[in-house]
Formats: sequence, structure tokens, C-alpha cells
Amino acid sequence: MDCEYCQESVIMNQKQKHFKTCRTFPVLCTNKCGRTDIPREELEAHILDECPATEVQCEYKKLGCEEVFPRSAAKSHSQMQIESHLRLALRVLEATQYQVHELVTVVKEQSQQIEKQSQQIERQSQQIEKLISKNNEQSEKMERPMSTAQEHPLQREGRGFPTPFQWKIDTTEAKSKTLFSEPFYLFEGGYKYIMKISPPPLFERCLRVSIKVVPGEFDDSLSWPCKEKVRVTMLGQRHRSVPLNKTSGVIDFEKVEEPCSRPLHDGHHEYRLILQLSAFAIFVRKCSILLMVSGE
Ligand SMILES: [Zn+2]
Ligand SMILES: [Zn+2]
Ligand SMILES: [Zn+2]
Repeated sequence: MDCEYCQESVIMNQKQKHFKTCRTFPVLCTNKCGRTDIPREELEAHILDECPATEVQCEYKKLGCEEVFPRSAAKSHSQMQIESHLRLALRVLEATQYQVHELVTVVKEQSQQIEKQSQQIERQSQQIEKLISKNNEQSEKMERPMSTAQEHPLQREGRGFPTPFQWKIDTTEAKSKTLFSEPFYLFEGGYKYIMKISPPPLFERCLRVSIKVVPGEFDDSLSWPCKEKVRVTMLGQRHRSVPLNKTSGVIDFEKVEEPCSRPLHDGHHEYRLILQLSAFAIFVRKCSILLMVSGE
């Protein structure tokens, strides 16, 4: 025959024994709330979630109310304790506001420190740049004894030969179009050069700096093909928190594949690659870079 509660088939004279373990046999609430009809398998859930006799904690426990009472008294506790619960909430709110205020102060202090440090880094980078250009000037002077200057008293009025030649480039501009330098000399009575910087080729992140010799005032007294060695050094002009980049490239006209004969017009020679600027930093922000060109 079948059990009337769980519908399982049970041997006739074992029915009482089955009731002791039957999953759906109605039992008394062990919490003594008075219910007698709870299917055995639901007793645990009843006590946990709905039994009015189960002891529960006040819902304001996290804010500090420590009271414990039967579930049936929860509503009256909340109603009676509105005032003390609000006081607790207020105190927690005040504490939280205080903490927020403290944190804001800490954040402010830290950002001031960061600001100070980045200013310091900026000052140091400027000093480094100054030292580098000073150093270049000095080595230039050492390489070019006075006699050279006397051999070529052709220095044009009001027009020096800035050594090294400096070319300032806006990287935002250089990333989208080819830029050309002014024509320049590296030495009095020397070869005349022009440089260009071209945007990265497809799928690359390098600005390409190239150089060529163009007809100059002193070509008659110069030896051809040109065998000069030219160095280009890139100085990143730092903007806030962009690290100083310095790279350089050299072209030795004596060793180029095609000798650099005397140019007959500006378009006579092809530009020759001297430096690829692949520094990541110049691509992530708008900044300017300085190219310094000098003879070796
Ligand atoms: Zn049963
Ligand atoms: Zn109960
Ligand atoms: Zn409470």
C-alpha cells in the first residue's frame, strides 16, 4: 500500500516505522511556535525563514543595536526603537563623513607631493638638456680650431653658423605631414644641408629624419664628393611627466652607397635616412622635440 504523505509504497505492517523517517510526514515545530503540520523535510526552512518563535537579531545590528528577540516581536521592536535606531544611524553617518573628510585631506596632500615631484623632475630635465647642449658646443669648439675660421673669412654679416644647428619640431604636426628644415651650414665655408622629417609609414610608429646636401655658397672651394660625418641628436622637450628622450643618429657621407657628388640643383640628391624616432613617449602626447645637428 502507499504512504498517504509521500505516496511511496510501503509494506503494510511497517507503516509506523516508515512514518518515523517519511520525508513529508507532518511534525511539530521543534521551536514551539505551535504548528503541528510541517512536512518533515520543510522543518529546517520553516525555523530558519518563517517560524515566529525563532530568535532573530535587530536589522540595525550593523549600526549597533544588539537586541535579539523572537521573529514575531521584530515589528514592534522597530516601531518602539525608531528614535534609538535613528540616533545610531546618525552617529554612523557622522563617523563616515569624518572618514571621508580625512581621506580627502590625504588625497590632497599626496597630489601636492606628486605635483612637487614632477616639478622637480622637470627642473632636472631642463638642467640635463642645458648640460647636453653645453657639452655639444664645447666639443664642437674643440673640433674646430681657430685656423679654420681664419681660412674662411667669409662669414656673412648678421648670419652666424649656429653650431649645432637646431631644429624645433611640433610632433603633432610631424605625425601627419612631412616637414623641411631651413637650409643650414654646420661650419663656416662648409657644405649646405637640408633636412626633412616624415610621418610614420603605414603600421609603424617611427618618424623618419633624413638629410641631403644642396648647392651652397662655398661649393667651389669644397672637395667633392662630400665626405662629412653628420650627427643628429633628438632632445624631447619635456612636457609634464613625459620622460626626457634622447637618441641620435649619424650619417657618414664618405660611406654612403652612392657618393655625394656636388649638387647641381636642390633636387639633385635623394634624402638619406639619418635617424628614426621611435620613442613611444612622443606619440602619446602633444609635445615638441628639438633636433640638434652637428659635424663629427
Ligand atoms: Zn511517507
Ligand atoms: Zn515554528
Ligand atoms: Zn534594534
